[in-house]
Amino acid sequence: MFDTLDRQPPDALLAVIGMHRADPRPDKIDVGVGVYRDETGTTPVMGAVKAAEARLLSEQVSKSYLGAEGDQTFTDSLAHVALGEALAADSRITGIQTPGGTGALRLAAELLARTERRPTVWVGAPTWPNHAPIFGEAGLRVASHGYFDAARGDLDFNLFVDGLTGAQPGDVVLLHGCCHNPTGTAFDAAQWQQLATMVVARGLVPLVDLAYQGLGRGLAEDAAGMRALLTAAPEALVAYSCDKNFALYRERVGALWVQAPSPAVAVPVRETLLVLARSLWSMPPDHGAAAVREILSDAALSADWQAELTGMCERINALRLALGQAHPALAPIARQQGLFALLPIDRGAVRQLRERHAIYMPDSGRINIAGLRHETVAPFIDALAPHLPL
Ligand code: PMP
Repeated sequence: MFDTLDRQPPDALLAVIGMHRADPRPDKIDVGVGVYRDETGTTPVMGAVKAAEARLLSEQVSKSYLGAEGDQTFTDSLAHVALGEALAADSRITGIQTPGGTGALRLAAELLARTERRPTVWVGAPTWPNHAPIFGEAGLRVASHGYFDAARGDLDFNLFVDGLTGAQPGDVVLLHGCCHNPTGTAFDAAQWQQLATMVVARGLVPLVDLAYQGLGRGLAEDAAGMRALLTAAPEALVAYSCDKNFALYRERVGALWVQAPSPAVAVPVRETLLVLARSLWSMPPDHGAAAVREILSDAALSADWQAELTGMCERINALRLALGQAHPALAPIARQQGLFALLPIDRGAVRQLRERHAIYMPDSGRINIAGLRHETVAPFIDALAPHLPL
């Protein structure tokens, strides 16, 4: 039976990680892996998470099963952070805990695949490489559209709108809520409004992937566009990850919210989500979500978490500024947000940076800004500059 399976290409990013690990050069730079790093190059456990975990260790009395919805207190507390007060109280919206943002996206895909409409899912090109497989593996058609002006290294809103010309009423449009992976581009407030008008006029359903809230401009700022969109659209989905903004990566913490056209329709939506979750993972892992729940239910821990998150965000933005000022071709990086930027270089340049300068990134030229330290910006730019357009 298994001899009919085809070989699969290795994960490109894992290959980069492996090469970086094996490189003995002491001044090597890893801008490949997509995790936050501090000035010492580590991805620390956040202070509030440590405190919440200590609390769980001493106070948790049972690890008995929860339901397929996971920890509903976690999801409901998180709704205030992600959706804001008004939408968190909206009974058209129902949400459950998921294993990370990936689990939320996959559950969204399975839900869409269960509808009579079985919509096409439109994703921007380029996007996070896992987006198309997640929807494709659920049996949905994935279509892609432009939005990125590679020459300018920036978002082109007209290209985005034109790219969606072929989308039919009921089709789903996948949007990065903030901190776009891989381009760092973002809609401004006016563009989110235009988008909301377009979505409503054409009957499109937005699916917002919010995986980096708080790492762009701030917690409320990073969700503002999505909230405006949800307020306008009759139907929408939000796939959320706590894995970056709580630095819980391997704990797999996320949630999916679905906005139904009415509270009555939200009931079968929720029931279907629970049935699907039951067959996908039965119930999500508890520990990381329990830590988030502890943080969000305690004012002091929440303040501590927000302060540390703000510090992470400021470090990223200071590095963005330094890169943007270092070379004209990198100027858009200073205006953009989040961990990632797409460098205007080709595969050959990526290889040369790796071989000659021990600088590691995937062939796409995507860099994780937080992989840099203030002292490595100058050598990074020196190595990169000959490959940049002028
Ligand atoms: N969406 C985007 C845009 C991402 O970059 C990622 C993580 N790389 C995810 C979703 C998935 O997050 P998680 O690790 O929580 O599954």
